Amino acid sequence: MIPFSPPRYHPEILEELEGTLKSGWITTGPKTKLFEKQLTAYCGNKVTNALNSATAGMEMVLRWFGVGEGDEVIIPAYTYCATANVVVHLGAKPVMVDVGDDFNISVTNIEAAITNKTKVIVPVDFGGWPCDYDEIMGLAVKHQSKFTPNSDQQKLLNRILVMADAAHSFGASYKGKKSGSLADVSVFSFHAVKNLSTAEGGCICWNLPESFNHEDIYVSINTLVLHGQSKDALAKTQLGGWRYDVDEPGYKCNMTDIHACLGLVGLKYYAETLARRQFIVETYDQAFENESWAKLRRNKTTDKETSYHLYALRVPDMTEDQRDTVITKVAEKGVSVNVHFIPLPLLSAYEKRNYNIEHYPTAHSLFKTEISLPVYYDLSDEDIQTVIESIKSSVKAVLNA
Ligand SMILES: *Cc1c(COP(=O)(O)O)cnc(C)c1O
Repeated sequence: MIPFSPPRYHPEILEELEGTLKSGWITTGPKTKLFEKQLTAYCGNKVTNALNSATAGMEMVLRWFGVGEGDEVIIPAYTYCATANVVVHLGAKPVMVDVGDDFNISVTNIEAAITNKTKVIVPVDFGGWPCDYDEIMGLAVKHQSKFTPNSDQQKLLNRILVMADAAHSFGASYKGKKSGSLADVSVFSFHAVKNLSTAEGGCICWNLPESFNHEDIYVSINTLVLHGQSKDALAKTQLGGWRYDVDEPGYKCNMTDIHACLGLVGLKYYAETLARRQFIVETYDQAFENESWAKLRRNKTTDKETSYHLYALRVPDMTEDQRDTVITKVAEKGVSVNVHFIPLPLLSAYEKRNYNIEHYPTAHSLFKTEISLPVYYDLSDEDIQTVIESIKSSVKAVLNA
């Protein structure tokens, strides 16, 4: 069976891990700090906090910004549940808007959803394709008069915060800048299926206006992700450094040095990873571009380049049942595919919170006709051809049935 998205393994991971395991320091320490510095250098943002997931990262940003009950956070209806779940955790309301034909949140729909309760906009770079950040940042400024700040951070920013859910877009670029430096804050995921993986992990890339002290933010987030403890475990090991304080009860979502080892090696070879992913995506495009039933996504324009995270093939003429049949047929041919995403209003948790899929027609139609094909470093040339043949023959069989 050709799997959907196994992580890339590089032999250097073992050396890196051995060094860390033998060093006597396995939780947050020098490797995590080094990984954070390298992430900042790669993305071109101001400062980066590594932690144990993108989900925790987004939640920490919303807490830092003082989002809570009565506030609204604008998100796309077409995303992974984490984007909405964290808003619910804060007691705020996820305001879902429909996406455009490129699977990304629609700028027009964001604007229509802005109210005097809007505190944050969360664009999601679907499959690694950057959202229209200039336009979205422009909306935050344009609607400044509606913004009613009620925390110190909100007062300092004095407009809606734009927090990118960049879980898919590590390595993507927009107008000459890398994902991570396109919004006020960007949150990456290093989950096992993501382009750059630490098994589980994530980071917050801060890129706020100069009025914010980024070093202070870095320290306060490190405190927040470790119980609110004024010193982390490593600092406590310093001579006579055992005493600490807890100013506010914090959370527990720090990254460990063991995970950071995977990230450091992954980042060192990331250019290679991206090049292979690009080759796979372009090979799929060439195979499907002359098929009248296939609708392909854009991967590169003068302004944008994807991180080649997902290959989301669309067959607009299929019904949802036909799409499901294609998935069964390609599985019988030994190929694992997937669907990204089930729109949030179709999940029970959000259906019972009164979100109705009828208000999100584009998300619904994308979902019904989408199939994500395998894209990963170790997918061989032969595997790519197997995937292509299995899709072509299954789609044709279903459409001609
Ligand atoms: C994977 C993913 C997340 C969650 O990432 P974790 O690191 O698992 O918390 C959030 N948003 C999107 C769009 C994702 O695909």
